[in-house]
Amino acid sequence: MFDTHCHLNFEAFDTTVDDVIERAKKVGVDHILIPGTDIPTSKKAVQIAEKHEGAYAAVGIHPHHIYQFLIEMRPSETNFFHKTNKSEKNSFSSDLKKIESLLGNPKVVSIGEVGIDRHIYQKTKYPDYKIGEEFVKLQKEILEEQIGMVVKYEKSLILHNREAKADMFEVLNKTWNKKLEGRSVFHCCEPDHELLEFAKDHKMFIGVDGDITYYKAKQEFIKAVPLDMLVLETDSPFLNPEPNRSKEGGTKNEPGNIPLIAKFIANLKNISVEKLSEQTTENAKKLFKL
Ligand SMILES: [Zn+2]
Ligand SMILES: [Zn+2]
Repeated sequence: MFDTHCHLNFEAFDTTVDDVIERAKKVGVDHILIPGTDIPTSKKAVQIAEKHEGAYAAVGIHPHHIYQFLIEMRPSETNFFHKTNKSEKNSFSSDLKKIESLLGNPKVVSIGEVGIDRHIYQKTKYPDYKIGEEFVKLQKEILEEQIGMVVKYEKSLILHNREAKADMFEVLNKTWNKKLEGRSVFHCCEPDHELLEFAKDHKMFIGVDGDITYYKAKQEFIKAVPLDMLVLETDSPFLNPEPNRSKEGGTKNEPGNIPLIAKFIANLKNISVEKLSEQTTENAKKLFKL
C-alpha cells in the first residue's frame, strides 16, 4: 500500500521516524510520500527519502507559510527591517530557488504541498494571522510559480486546498498544462462535487484520509469518487482515524494506519479491501510516475 501524504519530516516524528517506517512496512505500507511545507521540512523530506527504500519526497511552500513573506513585505513604521520596494520579492523568490534546487534529486518526485488556504487557524506560529485579499493574492502568485516548476521539471503536483475552491480553480485554469494530467492530486479533498468534476475533467486524483472514519460528508462523497481516481493518505501526524482517535492517551497518526483507512473505504464502496489496496497503490504509482 501507498501512503501518499505523511509528514514524517515534522518534529512530531523527530526521534521515531525509523520505527514508524518499519511499523508501516510490517502492515504492508511499503511506499510513502513525505511532502514539504517550507524550506526546512522540504530538505528533511529529501533526507528521509534518501535513507529509506520506498520513501519519496515532495518539496514546496505550503500556503499557510506564505504568511511569513507577507509580514516581511508589510510597510510598517514598527517594522524596522522593512525592505524597500525593490527587494520585496527577494525572500520568497530565494525560497523558490531553494525549492527548485532540490528538484534534481531522484527521490524528489513531486512539488507539494502547495495551494490556497483560507482557513483561519487557531494554532499558528504567526501572530495576528488573518486571511486578507493581499495574502490570498500572494498565495496565488507563489502557487503559480510552483506549478510552473512542476511543468518545467515534469514532476507531480500535490495540491492543498482549504476553503478556497474558487481561488484554486482560478489559478489552475490559468496555469493548466497537459503535463499535469494524471500527475496531480487534490490532497485531503474536501467533500465537494465541483472539486470532483474539476478533477475528472483534468484527469486528477483525489486524496482521502483517516477523517473519513468520522466525517459523514466525506463518507457520502467517497461513494461518488471513481476507484481509478482514488489515492490513500494519512496526513500524519494529523487526522488520526477511528478507533485510534477516540482511544485514551491519544496516539499520533502514522502511515501504519493506511490499512484502517483502506478497510473503511472498501466497506463504503462495497468492494474487497484487496481490490481497493491494489487499485489505490497503482493509482499512486501513476501519480508519482514510479
Ligand atoms: Zn494539506
Ligand atoms: Zn499535509
